[in-house]
Amino acid sequence: MTKKHGKRHRAATPASADATPWQDRPRAAPGIVTVVPGRSFDLASVDPASDGGFEKEAAGEALKAERTRISALQERLYAEHRRSLLVVFQAIDTGGKDGTIRNVFQGVNPQGCRVWSFKVPSAEELDQDFLWRYHAKVPGRGLIGVFNRSHYEDVLAVRVKDLVPEKIWRERYGLINDFERLLTLSGVTVLKFFLHISKEEQKERLESRLVEPDKHWKFDPADLVERKSWDAYQSAFTDALSRCSTPYAPWHVVPANRKWYRNLAIARTVADTLEAMDPQFPEPKPGIAGLTVSD
Ligand code: AMP
Ligand code: MG
Repeated sequence: MTKKHGKRHRAATPASADATPWQDRPRAAPGIVTVVPGRSFDLASVDPASDGGFEKEAAGEALKAERTRISALQERLYAEHRRSLLVVFQAIDTGGKDGTIRNVFQGVNPQGCRVWSFKVPSAEELDQDFLWRYHAKVPGRGLIGVFNRSHYEDVLAVRVKDLVPEKIWRERYGLINDFERLLTLSGVTVLKFFLHISKEEQKERLESRLVEPDKHWKFDPADLVERKSWDAYQSAFTDALSRCSTPYAPWHVVPANRKWYRNLAIARTVADTLEAMDPQFPEPKPGIAGLTVSD
């Protein structure tokens, strides 16, 4: 193969052609429970109030340091332009997805980061296969993508609200695993966080949305109806976490009652994951040594 061909081939091939597909993942931050692939998992065994042994007083500074790491590594990922990172957030209503995204990705160059929030599907989206709208938003090379809700809604809200027959949503766990495997083999590192809060904590958060005028906009009366399905959601979460934790895209369960802990633990895990990806600045273009810029 000529050099010219080799170059053309590389440009047209998914970035993973020379990336490690089944990556050795860094461990998640202390307190986060990573669901062991292939083993049954009990969500109730995770204490939502845990703080992983972190100190609240030091958490603010520690979070800043993690953001600095994320920002520096993101610049390399962007410059390298070969692989990408997809960070998925799932949680029950008020679980803290928005606050986490605001706190963890603050300071990241907006040009290299895309955040997508998935709501009730549109008529156009419902006319397609369930993964269509998510696949279209997967971050391209060099980007960090954040999913605020995700393809998991199609085995969570859809299941709890009985929007499709059981035989349809049951098939989806395997389809989701195949989809995430496809992404991984295409150079996308898939990092999934489930924010775990207690039922009491949700009550307090809903009450504060009702009481504090600045939070009224966040209050959706439908959340009160959804709260009545708390147990059904916990079962649906447990199944999704158990069936879709894989060696290439494991689920991380984050105790999320304490916001300061949640932010820090997730920021550290994101930074560690980027560090393990080890993005490199590309080689300088040939022939720049000795060049000068004209006046
Ligand atoms: P929020 O995130 O509070 O703005 O609410 C978005 C709503 O959209 C939630 O009630 C989700 O359960 C719902 N939602 C998101 N994705 C889907 C989906 N694929 N099917 C049905 N409902 C969904
Ligand atoms: Mg809501």
